[in-house]
Amino acid sequence: MDREPAPVPAAPSGAQDGRRHIPRTDVLLADPRLAEAAARLGRGVVKAAVVAAQRRARTGEIPAGAVADEAAAALPDTAAGLRPVINATGVLLHTNLGRAPLSDAAREAMLVASGATDVELDLATGARARRGRSALAALLEAVPAAEAAHVVNNGAAALVLAATALAGDREIIVSRGEMVEIGDGFRIPELLAATGARLREVGTTNRTSPDDYAAAIGPDTGFILKVHPSNFRVTGFTRSADVAELAGLGVPVVADIGSGLLEPEPLLPDEPDASTWLKAGADLVTASGDKLLGGPQCGLVLGREEFVRRLARHPLARALRVDKLTLAALEATVRGPRTPTGEALHADVEELRERARRLALRLREQGVDAAAVGSDAAVGGGGAPGVVLPSAAVSLPEPYAARLRQGTPAVMGRIEDGRCLLDLRSVPPDQDDALARAVEGP
Ligand SMILES: *Cc1c(COP(=O)(O)O)cnc(C)c1O
Repeated sequence: MDREPAPVPAAPSGAQDGRRHIPRTDVLLADPRLAEAAARLGRGVVKAAVVAAQRRARTGEIPAGAVADEAAAALPDTAAGLRPVINATGVLLHTNLGRAPLSDAAREAMLVASGATDVELDLATGARARRGRSALAALLEAVPAAEAAHVVNNGAAALVLAATALAGDREIIVSRGEMVEIGDGFRIPELLAATGARLREVGTTNRTSPDDYAAAIGPDTGFILKVHPSNFRVTGFTRSADVAELAGLGVPVVADIGSGLLEPEPLLPDEPDASTWLKAGADLVTASGDKLLGGPQCGLVLGREEFVRRLARHPLARALRVDKLTLAALEATVRGPRTPTGEALHADVEELRERARRLALRLREQGVDAAAVGSDAAVGGGGAPGVVLPSAAVSLPEPYAARLRQGTPAVMGRIEDGRCLLDLRSVPPDQDDALARAVEGP
């Protein structure tokens, strides 16, 4: 708390006396800069900055006369705690950094939708309209193989809704090789079991054949679940049944592709996509919106009208409903130009090297020990396990990592062999200048 520190001989002269003259909180809050900030950010945020500055004056860190300046300088840019980060990790979809960064088109659409908007209203007739109809239409245009679409909060919610609406307390047949942990302790089998459905495991970790599924089908079968192992790879003596083999077994097939690709991505040939799996015979495909699709966090459900309708009309659907901001960002992502994730995936390695050379040169001219080096980037937990994306990075002394992380904007690099690497594949080119300025420091 506000303990008086022991007198420090090295304290700036006058600091001792100044402590008695620290301006009162109400006086500080009347300072025009701080009053304006209180109107913009909220009084609590500004008061916290004032109290922190008063405390620093009391301990002699700053003169009493500097409290208002200090409080004003310490104010956050926004009322929320989330800070912008330049993702220089080389991991395109970094879970801890919020996965996919949104395109400008998606950001603008969200801003428009953030006020009152016609999310559930037909402005031509004044009558109520289907919620999110234009986002759903965009999905169906992008995936003609889907008869219908529905959007929920995330990929996990799509699975929960499918399990609840289509299996109930009956069985979901799933391969032992596809009992996946998504991350942070969340396991798909546990998620499904939590809905009350029973899991009927078939096959082994490395091998499951269509016959294994066929033998498990019975009157209690709700559906077969095919899960794409999106964050690991099993190699060697392996066998898994593909969607086409499962589609002929006479029970519904729900396929969780994970990454959200709507069409094949030539750079990631092993990554499934909604169109291909629906054409192969899946009745429903589920996916995340904020992985390789490059959009907002949401869960996509695409497929046969009859099944999509059962999900959308289930009472649980209301609890998993997405907000207007998500619908706006999703539609703009699907209709709009290539997303930042797509740009990063397709970035030409020669251009990345050129950017690294330019940045390293600029930093060396400022006396920074910087070098352009080759690097291996990755898609990330969101998909394409084991795929190495050739990249280029700016290599700095390791202590930069902590300093950059705490700067404004924050920069997340990665440590490799005792150096801090700023991998440029995950950094949009228009952030290069901000990146260089962050390294150069104030
Ligand atoms: C990521 C993932 C999920 C979970 O999706 P969230 O959007 O994170 O809830 C489910 N299944 C697979 C195969 C995944 O890759």
